[in-house]
Parts: sequence; structure tokens; C-alpha cells
Amino acid sequence: MSQQQPIYILPENTQRYLGKDAQRNNIMAAKLVAETVRTTLGPKGMDKMIVDSIGDITVTNDGVTILKEMQIEHPAAKMIVEVAKTQDEQVGDGTTTAVILAGELLKNAEKLLDQNIHPTVITKGYSMASEHAQTTLKKLAENISINDKETLLKIAITSMIGKHGAAKEKLAKILLEAVLEVAEGSKINMDNIKLEKKVGGGMEDSELVHGIIIDKERVNSEMPSRIEYAKIALLDGALEIKAPETETKVQISDPAQLQAFLDQEEKILKFMVQKIIDAGANVVFCQKGIDDVAQYYLAKAGIIAARRVKKSDMEKLARATGAKIVNKVSELTAIEIGTAGIVEEIKVNDEELIYIKDCKNPKAVTILVRGGTEHVVDEIERAMVDSLSCLIAAVQIGKVVGGAGAIEIELARELRKFATSLSGREQLAVLSFADAVEVVPRTLAENAGLDPIDILTELKAKHDAGIKWAGIDVLSGKIMDSWSNGVIEPLKIKTQAVKSASEVAELILRIDDVIAGSGSRQPQMPQGMPSMDM
Ligand code: ADP
Ligand code: MG
Repeated sequence: MSQQQPIYILPENTQRYLGKDAQRNNIMAAKLVAETVRTTLGPKGMDKMIVDSIGDITVTNDGVTILKEMQIEHPAAKMIVEVAKTQDEQVGDGTTTAVILAGELLKNAEKLLDQNIHPTVITKGYSMASEHAQTTLKKLAENISINDKETLLKIAITSMIGKHGAAKEKLAKILLEAVLEVAEGSKINMDNIKLEKKVGGGMEDSELVHGIIIDKERVNSEMPSRIEYAKIALLDGALEIKAPETETKVQISDPAQLQAFLDQEEKILKFMVQKIIDAGANVVFCQKGIDDVAQYYLAKAGIIAARRVKKSDMEKLARATGAKIVNKVSELTAIEIGTAGIVEEIKVNDEELIYIKDCKNPKAVTILVRGGTEHVVDEIERAMVDSLSCLIAAVQIGKVVGGAGAIEIELARELRKFATSLSGREQLAVLSFADAVEVVPRTLAENAGLDPIDILTELKAKHDAGIKWAGIDVLSGKIMDSWSNGVIEPLKIKTQAVKSASEVAELILRIDDVIAGSGSRQPQMPQGMPSMDM
């Protein structure tokens, strides 16, 4: 018998984790991601400060923002970040919830792996539990209509949780008003709602404007600062004479020739302005530059003009005023002109903004977000976007649930009941899934400095006694009825979180081989692991 030669199918030095090593490594990384955002959950959650490579800082407790700003490299950890991103895209809120749920599902799966339960059994059980959770959540949810303003306001406030003190209610009211303004039945086009940030003043100075606000000033102070019955032209080309692409030399030998050259330029610019006047416009928004000479003629004609307007703003203006964006001013005619009741430059905290009010499309609204400093404004804007998405999700789907941990306890109860109908090892997986769902109330309690075991025991007793929306009052540390206390969330936050979290957990559990492909970085074991009790 000749001796068997070892066979290599991969290049030497390829790093590879197989079987249990691969699984444990991936689970560990995923749990670490969940651990990172865990302390931010709920009204008593803490904030994170993220400093990027050039020293810019972001202060936030928004799960998806934290994970996007962190430079996560581990492949399994990146999958968890994707869960947060999906949640953000699909619902706009509940990103922390989705991530910690995914982490907990994996943590519990690890315990099952320790008992020698095969990953396929776990994934099967998880997928059954997840499916059952979807129908259960829908059954547990309460109906809501767009006319139920009181409940909608509570939803907006719940999403903005604790963060913004007294101004919270005012901000929630602004959001609700915006949504009601824009809604057509239960349909809401988010494109009709613009958020514009302005540093300065306090967050309570935030306001809802019926129309569009552009963070620009008129190009020339000779222009009027207010025009009624505005006729608006939108140009995405420049009101300038194009500089030649290549260096061009113009030979001028006597002063008369120079004058003729300049006159020619002025004539072209004057012609451009004349086109605008002929089209009937008295307001021009230009995506590119406006030459000084053109500015002069525009001002002389009593036209308001702003330059270097953002593309996204141009699109919003087009939708709001009915104007068509034109590239070449020579092609501008009356047909492309839009209308608005008033265009006005207004000074807000020493800086000018242009308001376009009473637009042709009355559904276009802008929320002007104010706050003392840039970091504050940014975080308020994030909270408002979350809250706005919650309102939209609640109105469009028409179903909401009690928060503060209530829905999770109720769901876990139903899943345990479901488990008893199953036999064998899948039952264990479904029970693990049920336990994992309770990570939300447990974390809410922990973050509020309460004893999670005591609270959960008490909470479960209340649910057993039929109080469906019993949740945690994080301020008093007691149990409350989350519904009557106004802690209400859209159903979609929960269905989406459960769906993405279980999908990613199943995906990670099915991996039994991690091979660093050519050109990729080697997957690293998480370094310097803190002792974790996740
Ligand atoms: P996420 O990124 O998942 O939205 P949050 O930090 O916004 O994370 O926390 C959401 C959780 O906080 C939800 O479970 C919600 O029910 C809970 N919550 C919100 N307001 C309250 C409140 N007043 N009391 C108790 N829990 C609350
Ligand atoms: Mg939230």
C-alpha cells in the first residue's frame, strides 16, 4: 500500500473555519454587534458618540446610525448591520429592537448547539416560530384609522421617546399635522414631506410650513424679497456663459474690440434673462450658477432668483409648484412655469431661507427642524424621521400594538403555547425563540436600572391574568398598561423586526464553513472579547 498524499484544494495560507469553529465565530461576532446597541434601547437608553477618521462626531441612540457609522468588518457582524438597515428602509424605526432580537436568537441557538442539537433542527424550529409570530402579531394588534388623531399622536410621541423632553409633544404634533395634510385616504406619499434643518433657536422653534423651504438666499439684494402670485421657473443649466472647454486665446488689439467682446457677452446674458421674462416667470431657481450680469438684469426685472439649488430641492419644487425643470433657458416657455401663492425670503436666526408657500400642490409641506447646535439638530431630525415613518406605517397598515415590552411578552406567551403542539427537538427551538423575544422587555428594564428578573416575573403574571398590554413603566419601575399610558407602536415595527432577525439568525446558523476568498480579508476571531453574559 502506498502512502496517501495530502490533497489541497485551496491555496496555502487560506484561512478557513469549519463546522463548530465557523458557527461559534459567527455567533460571537453577531452577539457583539447586538451588545453594542443594547444599552441604547428605550426611553432610558444611553447615547453613543461616534468619532470618525477626520474627527467628526455623531451623538445618537439610533441603532442603525450607530451601526452604519461603525466600521464593522466581520462578515457575520455585517449581516446583523444589514438587519438594521432593512428595518430602517422598511419601517424607519425599531432598528435597535431588530438587532438585539437577532443577537438573542443566536445566543439561544448557541445553547441548543451545546446540547448537540443540529443546526438544521434549530433553523427549522426558528422558521416555524417566526411564521407563527407573524400571524400571532397580526391577531394581537389593534385597528387604527387615520381619524384617530389621539392615538396617532401617541404613536409619534412613543417613537420620539424620552429623548427630547418637553418639546417632544410639540414635535409630535407637527409630524401628525404634516401626515394628515399629505394623506390621501390611508395613502401617504413621503415625498410630499420635506425636512429642512436649521441650526439656531431651540427645538421648540421647529415648525410646519405649508409649502417648501429652500436653504438659499436670493442672489442679489436688489431683488424683491417677497412676491405674490409667484410664477416659478426651474433651470438645471447655468445662467452663465460657458467657459470654453479648452484654453482659448482671444486676440484683442484695440479697446473698441474689447468693448465689442464684452458687449457680446452681455447681450447673450441679457437674452437669457429676456427668455425668463417672456416665459412670464417672476421667480427663478437655478441648479447651477448665475452670472453677475444676469443677476443685474433679473433684479432690474423684479425677479427673485436663487442659484446652486440642490437637485433634490429642484425636484421637490417641481412637484410642489407644477413647474417643469428646463435645461436650456432658451427652451423655457410659459408651459414650464409653476405657481405658488407667495415666495418670500425670511431671516431665520440671522440666515436667510426662501419660503415657497401656498403651492399649486397643497400637499407639499416642509418641517423646519430647529435645534441649538448641529449635533442636536441632526439627532432631532433622525428622531423625527423615525417618528414620521411610524405614523406612516401605522396609517398605511392600520394596525398598532402596545409597547413598553407588552407585545413581546404576549408574543412569547403565544409562542410557548404553540411549542406544546410540536413534538421533539423543534419544540426546544421554538421555546428558545420565545425566550429570545423577551429580550426587549428585559433590556428595557436593565436600561432603566431595574431588576429584569423581578420585573419580568411580575409582567408575565399580569399577562397570565389577561392584561394584554401590561408593560414596563420605566420611570416608576412598576407595571403599567402601556395602551392606556399611550405607549403605542405600529405593528409593522414588530413584524419586520421578527422577520429580519429570524432570517439572519437562520442564515448564520446554516453556515458551517467560512473560507476567505481570494483577495478578501481574512475573517478575524473577534479580538479582546469582553466577558459577556449575553
Ligand atoms: P428602536 O431602535 O428599536 O426603536 P428605541 O430606543 O426607540 O429602539 O426603543 C424602542 C422601545 O422602547 C420599544 O420597545 C418601545 O415600546 C419602548 N418604549 C418607548 N416609549 C416607552 C415608554 N414611555 N415606556 C416604556 N417603554 C417605552
Ligand atoms: Mg425607536
